Amino acid sequence: MPSASRNIMQLNPIRESVRLLSDPLFDEKQITFYVHFSDAGPVALRGNKWHKLKYNLLEADRLGLETLLTFGGAYSNHIAATACAAKLYGFKSIGIIRGEETLPLNKTLHEAKANGMSLYYESREQYRLKESESYVANLRVRFGDFYLVPEGGSNSLALPGCRELLDDITIPFDFVCSPCGTGTTLAGLVTGLKSHQQALGFSVLNGGSFLQDKIVELLAEKSLKPDCWQLIENYHFGGYAKTTAGLTAFIKDFEKKHAIVIEPIYTGKMFYGLYDLIRNDFFKPGTVLLAIHTGGLQYLPD
Ligand SMILES: *Cc1c(COP(=O)(O)O)cnc(C)c1O
Repeated sequence: MPSASRNIMQLNPIRESVRLLSDPLFDEKQITFYVHFSDAGPVALRGNKWHKLKYNLLEADRLGLETLLTFGGAYSNHIAATACAAKLYGFKSIGIIRGEETLPLNKTLHEAKANGMSLYYESREQYRLKESESYVANLRVRFGDFYLVPEGGSNSLALPGCRELLDDITIPFDFVCSPCGTGTTLAGLVTGLKSHQQALGFSVLNGGSFLQDKIVELLAEKSLKPDCWQLIENYHFGGYAKTTAGLTAFIKDFEKKHAIVIEPIYTGKMFYGLYDLIRNDFFKPGTVLLAIHTGGLQYLPD
């Protein structure tokens, strides 16, 4: 039975706000640059992760399921977020982790476990099969009934929650920008655009055509204006979690200038890309940008 005590709708656990950034470059190019970010609430849920999980939690509750099961790598922000949300809303949680157990646990897995998540490790070969029917059937034999949240929290129920990132935005922005891992957050943002607005996604992985297809798939059956979103693929810095001295230096400088903490895997690449696009006149003078700070700070040292 759905549990009234969970009250998931009423309990947005994070606080969010929008800030105007200033920089001589923005003045020179006549760009207005806002950042949407969360500055309070459980770190693992700040940014996009609460938004991606919200309607999945409601669905699990509606189905009367007690356990969330999901997948991820050992550094997965999504694993951290699922464990945190499960604890907060009274679900049990199971994390299927790619690869072998490494001890001591890193911060992500340590905290997931501290939040009550049961961790199971799967060889890379097995992990690859995680979406197959027979693999999932086997999991149900092992663990009993559960609500399955896909790897990265990427499903259609993640979209309405991500769309809500734009709910309270009164700024007349032209572009909303987000880093893309699975592209789910971007897809959700796209569903919330007004007719003159566009969404820009910054791929953090090499091999963005996969991502392009994924976003198209998530947005299938939604009636959208053509060309209202675009994936920028020039700022992956060699691939997922790859970094360069240039990116590291940019992040340091950005944090000092704006007093906003960013990280090299997602948000650092988006902000680097935005600065570069502004410098290269990608945006017309007068453009108003809204960048979504998607979080990702759970594994940084406190
Ligand atoms: C999970 C995550 C993303 C990726 O979001 P997608 O919806 O998978 O594209 C982006 N930024 C941060 C900080 C994340 O933790």
